[in-house]
Amino acid sequence: MHEMAVAGGIINILSQKLAELGDCKLIGMQLAVGKLSGIEEHSLRFALDTLLVGAGFADVELHFHDQPALFKCSGCSWQGQLQSFNMSCPDCEGSDLELVSGQDVILERIEVE
Ligand SMILES: [Zn+2]
Repeated sequence: MHEMAVAGGIINILSQKLAELGDCKLIGMQLAVGKLSGIEEHSLRFALDTLLVGAGFADVELHFHDQPALFKCSGCSWQGQLQSFNMSCPDCEGSDLELVSGQDVILERIEVE
């Protein structure tokens, strides 16, 4: 289950951040889920809940939002979302597009008290 591996990575980052912050209680976190990450929000939520409880965190509120797939054209300066998957630049019709974001799950913010 891919979501479990992703959740494990997030818990690692989370633990590091909490260690840096010192004495505080985790109450929530916000995650951006990339459109092309292949992650199902429902499964990720379940995996995170399981791991959080396992790591000793209870009642952590999880916030998710979609991160659109953003592409950048190396032929011109266009950057944005593609309407379809034809993979060519809407400005110059070049095909040298690079995926800028939307592939990953990112831990954006943690809430502590
Ligand atoms: Zn272009």
